[in-house]
Amino acid sequence: MILDLIFPKICQCCGEVGSYICDSCIEKKFKYTLKQKCHVCKKAVNKGMIHDKCKAESFLDGVFIIAKYDKFIENYIADIKYEFYYAMIQDLVKVMNKYLERNKKFKKIIAQSDVTYVPLHFWRKRWRGFNQAERIASGIAEEWGSKCKRLLKRKRNTKCQVGLKKKERLNNLKDAFECKYSGNVKRSVVIIDDVMTTGSTLEECGKALKDADIEKVYGLVAARG
Ligand SMILES: [Zn+2]
Ligand SMILES: [Zn+2]
Repeated sequence: MILDLIFPKICQCCGEVGSYICDSCIEKKFKYTLKQKCHVCKKAVNKGMIHDKCKAESFLDGVFIIAKYDKFIENYIADIKYEFYYAMIQDLVKVMNKYLERNKKFKKIIAQSDVTYVPLHFWRKRWRGFNQAERIASGIAEEWGSKCKRLLKRKRNTKCQVGLKKKERLNNLKDAFECKYSGNVKRSVVIIDDVMTTGSTLEECGKALKDADIEKVYGLVAARG
């Protein structure tokens, strides 16, 4: 209620009252991914989320991308991160669920899996006040009837990934995560993040989950750069 007064809910694109992005602007502005690609070789995948021949190179059994990372989504996600527009996350979740609605295969994967998210470091969470990946993950899990669980923990502080080359990113993140959970976990887990660049964060999270004997690990991201 108070947030509604500080940040009145009007569409950031057309000014329509009611949400931060209205349904018609979602359709116009988000560049939905038309064809999913294998996250290893970047080539089209017809069935499954990763080519059999690419499996040896990844801890992930597939990465599902909702939209192309462009100026629009960059600004949208930056606003969520830095200006604390909590409710904007709900709209982003709406966009993601709308896209998932059309993809039977991945919808089924989510319904049969536990959902988790890339954890933020303690001090970063305090600075931002929340982890947007966690909020996205709980919104997605709720929609498809699965559970969002905090399965991953950062073992140590990593440098900010921005500006690092691919190899530096991999070293920076090497064994940065561990899977710590006392309850039951399904054999299949979907890790959610907002943006994916090289995919090294998701890979390291995937490694931590596979090390903890999770059979299938998938990634789901709002946008890929
Ligand atoms: Zn609009
Ligand atoms: Zn491939």
